[in-house]
Amino acid sequence: MNNKIELIDKLKKSLEFYQELGFEYLPLKRADISNVISAGAVSDYNPATISSNQQVAEQPVDYSSNKEITLEDLKNEIGDCHRCKLSKGRKNIVFGEGKADADIMFIGEGPGRDEDIQGRPFVGDAGKLLTNLILKLGLRRQDVYIANIVKCRPPSNRNPEEDEISTCAPFVERQIAIIKPKVIVCLGKIAAQTLLKTNVPISKLRGNFFSYKNIPVMPTFHPAYLLRNPKDKWLTWEDMQKVLDKLK
Ligand code: SF4
Repeated sequence: MNNKIELIDKLKKSLEFYQELGFEYLPLKRADISNVISAGAVSDYNPATISSNQQVAEQPVDYSSNKEITLEDLKNEIGDCHRCKLSKGRKNIVFGEGKADADIMFIGEGPGRDEDIQGRPFVGDAGKLLTNLILKLGLRRQDVYIANIVKCRPPSNRNPEEDEISTCAPFVERQIAIIKPKVIVCLGKIAAQTLLKTNVPISKLRGNFFSYKNIPVMPTFHPAYLLRNPKDKWLTWEDMQKVLDKLK
């Protein structure tokens, strides 16, 4: 009897966890459900834990390793950049943040309104979805590195234009060269097409590994797309499972 109550309680916590992530249904086969329940990360899920993780993510980075110093040097080199026309409307340059020797580097397209105001990547609604996804993977935001192809907000959140991308992308390429992640996750079309130098649509690229300078690259949907198309969240979840497998 007690076991049954415990099982129901664990199942309830698991469902609450997926709901928190924004899933509208479980992206699992029936046989997988028992694995979900027995997986420590999910059965021990506690919203209070997530809140405290997010608070840790707010703490300032400790610049102590060479990579951190080199990233700081690059940030200083970018300075108050006016190399492209995106500088005109921005409030803040969004350099990127996270662990300087992270195994996983997430690369998006460019800052949105909230990111422009705060000067930090992925902090709006799409950022919350990304943060929850990272937590669901058993990581914290400060365990990964998050950056964008362009570092200043395009007006009205339009796509960055070719001249803006070609001017700014060398900075994220240098961030990749410093961090040397084991896997890059490209969030959305612009990041994937820029790094992989292709025009293939993200719907065809996602879910498959490509290579950027010998680093495996997994293209997947941008969190903002997933907010508009929640039914596709499970596809990104599948892509991230492949990323975790690659790191084993
Ligand atoms: S988008 Fe990049 S290149 Fe353009 S102004 Fe901002 S930091 Fe400079």
